Amino acid sequence: MRLTRYFLPVLKETPSEAQIVSPRLMLRAGLIKQAAAGIYSWLPLGYRVLRRIEAIVHEEQVRAGHIPMLMPTLQSADLWRESGRYEDYGQEMLRITDRHGRDMLYGPTNEELITDIFRAHVGSYKDLPLTLYHIQWKFRDEIRPRFGVMRGREFLMKDGYNFDIDQDAALHAYNRHLVSYLRTYERMGLQAIPMRADGGPIGGDHTHEFLVLAETGESEVFYDSAITDLRFGDRDVDYASVDQCQAVLEEFPSRYARTDETHDEATFHARVPEERRRHARGIEVGQIFYFGTKYSEPMGAVVVNDQGERVPVHMGSHGIGVSRLLGAIIEASHDDRGIIWPEGVTPFHAGIVNLKQGDAAADTACEKLYAALVAKGLEPLYDDRGERAGAKFATMDLIGLPWRITVGPRGLAKGVVELTSRRTGESEEMSPEAAVDRLAQIYAGV
Ligand code: ATP
Ligand code: MG
Repeated sequence: MRLTRYFLPVLKETPSEAQIVSPRLMLRAGLIKQAAAGIYSWLPLGYRVLRRIEAIVHEEQVRAGHIPMLMPTLQSADLWRESGRYEDYGQEMLRITDRHGRDMLYGPTNEELITDIFRAHVGSYKDLPLTLYHIQWKFRDEIRPRFGVMRGREFLMKDGYNFDIDQDAALHAYNRHLVSYLRTYERMGLQAIPMRADGGPIGGDHTHEFLVLAETGESEVFYDSAITDLRFGDRDVDYASVDQCQAVLEEFPSRYARTDETHDEATFHARVPEERRRHARGIEVGQIFYFGTKYSEPMGAVVVNDQGERVPVHMGSHGIGVSRLLGAIIEASHDDRGIIWPEGVTPFHAGIVNLKQGDAAADTACEKLYAALVAKGLEPLYDDRGERAGAKFATMDLIGLPWRITVGPRGLAKGVVELTSRRTGESEEMSPEAAVDRLAQIYAGV
């Protein structure tokens, strides 16, 4: 993409309405624009990151054997009356009446809708296990939308639902989700720690929230610092294996890590030596949940088991805050000049800065570099504006592409360009071909 043909409305002033760094940078770097309180338009650069995050979530869900689909944003109130949640949900639910006077709502979550689909089409244990998921916009009329996309009213969520014959099978599905979530966040360059959480109004004993440690997080957390040394890494877990998934569950959540809702000071002290006790804040980027037959029973989602008996299915639901993740990643990865995107989610793989636009040799070298990167399957953003070098560097630093290639007449006379890491600020001179190869190698490992 050439910057002169792109739409990147970078702001010069720091927007005054943003209280913390991620919305400030998202607004300044032209990623989003507020449409109404807690509702945002995704401008081209922000949309690119959102799509990358979505793609990682899809890949990891499909790898775990879960099946993508898409349910609508608007739902009929009738299903929610069946589950008993229409009254319970309260003012966070946006209720709408259509022209025929029918009660509708903008879905805050999808347990009812998915249970309705299941009961219409599945009747036998032979069709289980089954896990369906979608990535769809949700609406929750949050009393205090704030921190940009981190607490929006309209937000994008991956929500998945498992259907299993009994508790053991459903707990395997739970563990499978835990493993797939660990992989998902690490691919985004994030450390998200699974912490024991509270079942809340949905109920249920088995639930973990995934938290990214950040001072600006809204959750209060208590944990054993040893858990921050755990990495999922590139281990190869067989999702069909109950033992392998269970082993990950035992390794990660076995370390003390809880939100304030489940925190217990006495247990904390008994299990964690003082020097490893941490009390901090975190951003909830996902949650997994086993809730048994809470929906299948009232809504009649039953299957015939291998004994010929009709039993309600065991279910769980599992969510990832896809749009919130942009904010969480920026909170975890920025400096005073701007965003620092991890390679896994960056909107463009590298920026090309032409120090002397209009100089025949520099222009030609940039064009060649651009074509060579594209030929390797990479997407560069070429700053081909007639701006000063300082302005071009400032834009690149603000939007946070992990790598920048700087091309100028002086380097070209020696046959080199400069490759700069946004994270470390370190630069290295090399031939344009070597820079292309280096980037291809870096991204092959992402
Ligand atoms: P919170 O406690 O932050 O209000 P929640 O526990 O109600 O979130 P879940 O029902 O668990 O949310 O939804 C799954 C995921 O969706 C959350 O882990 C979070 O990442 C994301 N999410 C929830 N509410 C919002 C929101 N208002 N804006 C953006 N993302 C959200
Ligand atoms: Mg939650």
